[in-house]
Order: sequence, then structure tokens, then C-alpha cells
Amino acid sequence: MKAHDGMYIDGAWRPAAGQDVIEVVNPVDEQVIGTVPAGTAADVDTAVRAARAALPDWAATPPAERAARLGALREVLVARADEIAGTVTAELGSPLKFSQAVHAGVPIAVAGSYAELAATYAFEEKTGNSVVHHEPIGVVAAITPWNYPLHQIVAKVAPALAAGCTVVVKPAEDTPLVARLFAGAVHEAGLPAGVFNLVTGLGPVAGQALAEHPGVDLVSFTGSTAVGRQIAAIAAGQVKKVALELGGKSANVILPSADLAKAVNVGVANVMSNSGQTCSAWTRMLVHRDRYDKAVGLAAEAAAKYGDRIGPVVNAKQRDRVRGYIEQGVAEGARLVAGGPEAPRETGYFVSPTVFADVTEDMTIAQEEIFGPVLSILRYEDEEDALRIANGTVYGLAGAVWAGDEAAAVAFARRMETGQVDINGGRFNPLAPFGGYKQSGVGRELGVHGLAEYLQTKSLQF
Ligand code: NAP
Ligand code: MG
Repeated sequence: MKAHDGMYIDGAWRPAAGQDVIEVVNPVDEQVIGTVPAGTAADVDTAVRAARAALPDWAATPPAERAARLGALREVLVARADEIAGTVTAELGSPLKFSQAVHAGVPIAVAGSYAELAATYAFEEKTGNSVVHHEPIGVVAAITPWNYPLHQIVAKVAPALAAGCTVVVKPAEDTPLVARLFAGAVHEAGLPAGVFNLVTGLGPVAGQALAEHPGVDLVSFTGSTAVGRQIAAIAAGQVKKVALELGGKSANVILPSADLAKAVNVGVANVMSNSGQTCSAWTRMLVHRDRYDKAVGLAAEAAAKYGDRIGPVVNAKQRDRVRGYIEQGVAEGARLVAGGPEAPRETGYFVSPTVFADVTEDMTIAQEEIFGPVLSILRYEDEEDALRIANGTVYGLAGAVWAGDEAAAVAFARRMETGQVDINGGRFNPLAPFGGYKQSGVGRELGVHGLAEYLQTKSLQF
């Protein structure tokens, strides 16, 4: 148990305004592993002022120099990759190998991509008799969740810094330790004081104060739809820009010509990864009626193989919420073919890898985001039916299509109301825009589209 002190504000660790702390718990054994200060509106105000004060110089720093700082930040993340992975494993509970490959690996890739983009992006363009300057939007508030705790910070901070913005981050209360580690990395990379600031604290206290602060120009939020709505309402009142990344209920569409075993196995792995706590997870598998029973058998087998190889979910509240959804699925008539609501272990926030068959569109488990290792398999009659089911939720974040013929998969994907689709198991690309259609959000992260979120244009006419 370590008591961590201070907030990273204006280039140094400074005492928090209040005395309250947040306990950080290891979800594997439920032990308290540390505490961090619970920030208040006073800490947020100090941080936003520091970010505002640092803005003019950072905005005027040549992009090549901003790129060099981001390159240095990437190098520090590389040097500290083991520490990052160990920290995420301790506070989120994910297996160490996954933490190394994903929780440490992806932020390195994203930081590197923005080091390159900052150096190559055309911050100035000509159109007709105008020169258009792409200028930083200003002070950014980044409010982040716990499921990919460092990735979600870097996916906001790296493009913001590349754009010339300054930032205040409020990380999730469950995973503040990797955020503190990141603040140390920013410091080591030599970013000027005030360009990056970190305030740990509770969402309704520090998070809300940050979203409401008049010194903030853009709020970039990732998390639940309920909180996203509140943040959008606050921002609307002050006419400030928001970017919202809010979860999904993505469909894995297995067309009749697809390699069924591959599509099912990759589909189950996609849902079980990170214990199901992935906003873009393909939590609905859609299978043609002729191959439905076969797919269900394969999925049940694949899920059973996970056994207790997956980690716990992040906290007791999430465990209870996920188990509540499993109970509701049973109550609404879905058929359990793997897992179930019982706790697989006495300690730790574990949930059994669970698969439901005979799920129909109207069921709660087919509509709401569960955020746990739970897969629903739905039956479709023909392609039109599959498309209707795939598009039949309020969400539109991600999806997958499998077909024998790539062109057929692409044709189907183009009709899906969703921000990204993996074709026959296509890999994650940190340069491709990530974000939602419909209620999955507003705006895009990653790559050049993610950079554009932090820029506004100024046209000079000659
Ligand atoms: P959440 O409450 O929306 O948390 C996201 C972030 O917003 C956290 O930093 C949180 O702080 C902060 N926050 C909470 N209330 C706030 C407020 N009133 N004003 C400003 N900031 C606020 O999400 P959660 O409770 O951790 O998870 C609940 C559900 O959200 C999950 O089951 C899942 O369905 C969904 N979710 C989606 C994603 C995604 O990637 N799209 C990620 C996480 C969760 P605290 O940490 O202190 O609450
Ligand atoms: Mg919360």
C-alpha cells in the first residue's frame, strides 16, 4: 500500500487542496494497493489556469519542436513499458501479457503516430485568395475511463499536444496510478510546464468541475452514455466543443459464405479480451439460421476454453452489474450455453466467460452495453434481416463482417451504421479514425482525423 501525494500541475507535483483520498484496489485479490488525492474544484481551477498560461507559448512552438517532444515522450513510454504494464495489471486486473501487448504497446504506437503527424501535417493551406491556418483549439479537458486507462489518455493528450493545445486530464478513479506514471513520463520527456496537467479525483467532483470550467475550450470524454450526455449539456451551455466516445453494442456478422470456425473463434476472443471491457467489442454475433446450431456449439466450446484465463472486471459494482445482465438474459428467455451468473472464484471481481444462444433483438442483453465477458448469439434469415438486426440498436461504434468473398463483406459493411468494421478479421489500425455513429459518440480519435478534433481554422484573405 503506497500513499501517493500531489497533483501534477504546472510542471511539478503539488499538494492537493483537500485531504481526501481515493483508494486504489487490485481487482484480482480486492486488496488496497495505494491511495491518490481526491481532487476538488480548487485543484481543477489551479490546473486549468496553468494550462491557460502555458497555451500561448506552446501554440506558437513550431510543429517540428512539438513533434520532437512527442517523440521523446514515446521513447520514455518505451523505456517504462514494463512499469506501465505492471501498473495496469495491478489496478485493472488484466493478465500481464495483455497489459504488455495492449495497455503498454498501443499507447507507444499512438504517441509515435502523433510525433510523425505533428511533423508532417499541413497546418497551413491555400484555397483561392485565402490562406487557411489550422490553429489549436485551446485548453483541452480530457476525462477518461478505466478500461484502456493509458490508451484513452494518450489518444487524447498526444493529438492535443501535436495540435498545440494544452491539457488537463481527469483519469478514472479506478485507474489513477498509470495516469500518474504517464505524468512522470511527460515530465521526463521535457514538455514545458503547464502544457500537461493531471488532477485525480471523482467524476462528479473533479470531472464535473473540469467540464464546467470556463477556462476549458474543448471537453474530450470517453465513458458511459449517461455521463456523456451530462457533459454535452454542460458544454452546450458554454458553447464549447465536445468529443464523446461512448460505448457500443457492435455486431459480428457472419455471412453464409464465411469460414464459420474462424469467424466464431475470433469473435469469441474479441469479446473475452480485456474481460469484455471494450467499447468496440462485437458483443452480438449474427449467424444464418442454417449454421446457427453449429456456431453456438463452436462458441460455447471456445468460451469454455477461456476458463479462468481472463482477468476480473474492474470493480465490485461492474461485477454486480454484469452478473445482473446475465441473470436478466436468463429471465428474458435466452439460453445459456457457457458461463453464467455464479461467481467463478471467492475473491476478486471475476465473471465467467458467458455465451447466450437464442437471443432475440428485443432482449435487454441484445440492446444494452454490458461491459463484461458476455456474448449474445442471434439468428438471421437472410442478408437483409442480418443488416436490420446489425443496425437495430442506438449504438454504432464498431462491427465485423465475415464472408468467403471480400467484396461481399465490404458491400455489407458499407451498409452498416457504424464507425468502423473489421473485414474477415482485419487488424486494429492506430492510424484509422475511431469513433461512433448514432449514440456511440461525437467526433473521432486517432490518426489525422483525431488531430483535426483539436484544431480550428482561421482564414486570411488576400
Ligand atoms: P463513467 O462514470 O462514464 O466514467 C468515465 C469518466 O467520467 C471517469 O473518469 C469518471 O470518473 C468520469 N465521470 C463520472 N461522472 C462524471 C461527471 N458527472 N462529470 C464529469 N466526469 C464524470 O463510466 P463508469 O461508471 O466508469 O462505467 C459505467 C459504464 O460506462 C460501463 O459499464 C460501460 O458500459 C460504460 N463505459 C464505456 C467506456 C467506453 O470506452 N466507451 C469506458 C468505460 C465505461 P470516475 O472514475 O470517478 O467515475
Ligand atoms: Mg463512474
